[in-house]
Amino acid sequence: MTGTREEPEGREERDELYGRLKEFEGRAAATAGVGKDLVNEPMIRHWCEAMGDTNPACTGPEAIAPPTMLQAWTMGGLSGHTDRSRAYEELFGLLDGAGYTSVVATDCEQEYLRPLRPGDRITFDALIESVSERKTTKLGTGYFVTTRMDVRAEGEPAGTHRFRILKYTPAPVKTPASVKTPASVKRASSRGGRSLRPRPVINRDNAGFWQGVAEHRLLIQRCGECATLRFPWLPGCNGCGCQEWDTVEAGGEGTVFSHVVMHHPPFPAFSTSEEGGPYAVALIELAEGVRMVGNVVGVPYDKVRTGMPVRLEFLRTDPDLEIPVFRGGEG
Ligand code: ZN
Repeated sequence: MTGTREEPEGREERDELYGRLKEFEGRAAATAGVGKDLVNEPMIRHWCEAMGDTNPACTGPEAIAPPTMLQAWTMGGLSGHTDRSRAYEELFGLLDGAGYTSVVATDCEQEYLRPLRPGDRITFDALIESVSERKTTKLGTGYFVTTRMDVRAEGEPAGTHRFRILKYTPAPVKTPASVKTPASVKRASSRGGRSLRPRPVINRDNAGFWQGVAEHRLLIQRCGECATLRFPWLPGCNGCGCQEWDTVEAGGEGTVFSHVVMHHPPFPAFSTSEEGGPYAVALIELAEGVRMVGNVVGVPYDKVRTGMPVRLEFLRTDPDLEIPVFRGGEG
């Protein structure tokens, strides 16, 4: 190896873990798979509609699939793939065991080698392509792991999909001094063993909102220039771009503008019933005119209706978390 800088002795401890991690390079990340569907026109049409892709090459008898759709043909769907390789599990186990227990997806890169046409049968396999040296990022210190999936159509190379994650030890979180630091997520016994709600992400842009919630006030931002109200909280005005703002407190009256009932996949942590069953999530139009997403309580999930009047209240979902929710029904 050339160009290695000499570190003063003792300054940089030798990274023995890195050597062990490197041994996983080139090993399978997953067992080889077959696309759940042949390349097909309905999936291409749905993708184009969702993405606003009007390229004429994607319609008609000679249609090709948008190249950026590559990963859609290899996905496992809700039932998932159960094909992580043993090597991949071992690599993660090694990192977890060394304290690098958090994971974040950082980026992906794709290469397109052959157009995909309706009727093409997709096969793929994935390997652990590389493990980086130990790096320190804003999130924390850890290792980048790159997985490369090779996708074939009718047996011919059609593209590659590289997917990179950072497996890391989180750096201590700094929150604004005025906001109470939420306790770390722990398994609850107070909710019948169900997991707690994921903590809201509190940052510089929304800290004032959560401060309001802590005081049982629902605060809406008001533009300092054109006085337009906005929700959710944003650094600037959608109407005029002005970054000056103050807040107004919502009176608490609203109506259900739209709603969904979550049945599947089940997220018991988000349910407002003790059993953790299905729950209604509504888009509430506040009397002030802005809309916000929230749980509807006090009404069975299947009795929530568009236009139903609701009233703001604050619900303690966990020992250390309160959220704004909307009570429907009489009184
Ligand atoms: Zn404005």
